[in-house]
Order: sequence, then structure tokens, then C-alpha cells
Amino acid sequence: MKLYNLKDHHEEVNFAYAIKLGLGKKQGLFFPKKLPKFNSQELQELTQMDFINRSANILSHFISDEISLQNLKIQVKNAFSFTPPILHMVEKNIACLELFHGPTLAFKDFGARFMANMLSYWNDQDDSMTILTATSGDTGAAVAHAFYCMNNIRVVILFPKGKISRLQEKLFCTLGKNIHTIAIDGSFDDCQSLVKQAFNDKKLRKKIGLNSANSINISRLLAQICYYFEAFALIPHHQQENIVISVPCGNFGNLTAGLLAKAIGLPIKSFIAATNSNDTIPRYLKNGIWAPYKTMSTISNAMDISQPNNWPRVEELFSKQKWNLKSLGYGSVSDQETIHTLKKLHHIGYISEPHAAIAYQLLKKQLSPQDFGLFLGTAHPTKFQNTIEKILNIKLKLPKSLEKRANLPNFSHHMKPNFLKLKNFLLQL
Ligand SMILES: *Cc1c(COP(=O)(O)O)cnc(C)c1O
Repeated sequence: MKLYNLKDHHEEVNFAYAIKLGLGKKQGLFFPKKLPKFNSQELQELTQMDFINRSANILSHFISDEISLQNLKIQVKNAFSFTPPILHMVEKNIACLELFHGPTLAFKDFGARFMANMLSYWNDQDDSMTILTATSGDTGAAVAHAFYCMNNIRVVILFPKGKISRLQEKLFCTLGKNIHTIAIDGSFDDCQSLVKQAFNDKKLRKKIGLNSANSINISRLLAQICYYFEAFALIPHHQQENIVISVPCGNFGNLTAGLLAKAIGLPIKSFIAATNSNDTIPRYLKNGIWAPYKTMSTISNAMDISQPNNWPRVEELFSKQKWNLKSLGYGSVSDQETIHTLKKLHHIGYISEPHAAIAYQLLKKQLSPQDFGLFLGTAHPTKFQNTIEKILNIKLKLPKSLEKRANLPNFSHHMKPNFLKLKNFLLQL
């Protein structure tokens, strides 16, 4: 697969190289030059496969020139070696696609584990590599676990101090070995900006073999396309006609993957881009003005992002497909409304968490009676144990993977958002 740099169309790379580079020149994102397209016959065939075989098949249509279907299947099987997505009916025509049954209880396990497997498949054993990633909550854990104990790969994770939940932090700051975590005095955008500065430093980049595992890495988005097809396969046949999918958005990687799924032939009627009060995109879609505010802390912290990295990919896709941006649903939900929605969901028998609740709230508001609505369950409710227990006045039982880590010591370093300090840290590893 050939990909081009959105900021410099002359820069073209193949997938194996894009996955190693993360970002191109001028910090441009990579975008596929040509998208595969499944017709309805092929879609039918795909629908009948199991999750692993179908996923390998879909991905193979992108990258068959770089890896055989047989080898890709092995990588996909290793990457998606956990409970596949579950379709949980919440109302007659609304379901949650639960993507949080992986090792770190968030949808990010799909992308991070596929990326880790492909990187190690293509990585020369003599090349050492440093993965530098900023996290607003769940990326850190997914990436840390995906790369844990891999040879020749060091992982450095920056997160905004005090702005992610205690259990989110426990999941990745208690690993040690090749996983280094730094609490930054600042917001997620500050962390993201430090990562960008490191990528801008050519010498540093070369010296430590810098790579990023953020959703700017195209491999993560490709992996995520697979669960949209799984969702389609799980939806009852008579309800497959008018599917509307509401996606809780932060960096907009998940939404980009959904739109890519549609572009290659998955019949989705429309998408809703759901945000919390960090509403740069809803405001942009409404009035066409790009005006990010300072990032606000909310109870849906993984979405506390006011300068979403993947947005240029969304615009590129709309323009390439000749879709109208006006067809994209959108909206933002305040903390107060989120709390109210969590209670409403609990009342109808579903315990959710703030991110999914935001997607549900907007779906409920915008869904027509003849539509089938799907909202993405991006994280397991217990990752936000304190918040949920307080709001719903219930006790949550932790899944084993979380319980195991909850009382381990935290190995994190602590740093001001200062690039020179970070650089020294990276050079000393
Ligand atoms: C990362 C994350 C999101 C946002 O996903 P993007 O792909 O960055 O838009 C939403 N919910 C949860 C729980 C997350 O961890």
C-alpha cells in the first residue's frame, strides 16, 4: 500500500515504513493513496467469516503487496487474541458496541496490539526503537501492554498529571521493565506538543529510533476498521439498512476508522462525531471556524482534547469520497448532561461510563425511528470506578486484570512540560 503525506503529497511511503515513521515531513499524517472497495457480494462473504479471518482479509486488501494473507493472519490472530467486540442491546433499536474486553479494557487494545505486532514483524532485531506516546488516559495502557517486554523496544509514555483516573494510571504505570511513564504538569495537549517537538528534532529522532504509537500511526486506524465490520455482522439482518453510528471522539482516530470502513464498502448510513465540552469540531462543523479553546478537564477525560490530531484525515477522506461534511452528525455533551445520561442508562438496565454515555446521548437525540443506532463502548465502566460508583450509587466489581494492578506501586517519573528535560530523559534511557 502506498501512502502519501497530507502536508507534502510528494512524500510517499509504503505501509511498513509509515508504521515505523509515524509522522511524515512537517509532521504530516500519512493517508492511503488508494482505498480498496468491497462490493455487496464480497461484503456478504466477509460478513460470514469469523472476526479474525474477516479482519485479516480486510487488512490484506490494503497491504497484500507487503505481507501475505497467511502471515498477516498470524499477526492479526496474535493482536486480537482477546474477547472480540460484543453487541449489547440497550433499547429496541439501539445497541452499544462494547470494545472494552481486551487486556487494558479499552478499544485502544485493537490498534495498539496490531501496531506492536506489525512493528515487531518488520523490525530488524538489531534496530532498537523508542516509542514515545502521549496519552489522555487509555492509549498509555494499551500501548504499554502491547509492547511490554518486547526486545529492543523502549516505551515512554507522557500523561497529564492528575488528569486521568487512578485505575487508568495503575494499568500502565506499574509495569516497569521497558515501559517508562512520565506525569507531566499540564494538559494532554501539552503532552502531545512535547511528542511533536521530539519528532521535530531530527538528530534525536535518528539517535533513539523514535516512533509514536498515537492514533496518528496509520496502523492503528487500519486495525480499528475491522470492528466496524464486526459490528455490521452482529447487527440483526433486518436492522442492517439504516445504521447510524455515534462515536465518542477525542483525537478522532476512531471516527476516521469508521469513515474508512464506510469508504471501502460498509453500508453505514451516517456517523455522529460526539465530543464532551472540548467541542472544537462541533463548533467547526457548525460555523466553519477553527477556534480551539484551552483544553478543559471533564469526567470523560480520554476525550479532553481540543486540537484533535486526526481531523485532517477526516477532511481528506470526505474530499476524496466527494462526501459533504454537512452529512456528518455532531454534538457536544457537558459533564452535567453526561451524569444525567449515565443515570438514565442505568435506569434502563445498562451500566456505562462517561465516554460511551456521551455518544449514546447524541445518538438518542438524533436517531430517526426507522434507524438502527450504535454507540461505541470505548472503555470498561470499572476504569472509572470512583466516578461511576458515586454517580450511580452502586458498587462495581473490578475485572481481574484491573484488580491485579490496583495495589501495585507506581513507577512514574514527574516532569514540567519542558522539551529539554524530556530530551535528556530520552537520551539517558
Ligand atoms: C481514546 C478514547 C476515546 C477517543 O478516541 P479517539 O480515537 O482519540 O477519538 C474515547 N473514549 C475512550 C474511553 C478513549 O480511551
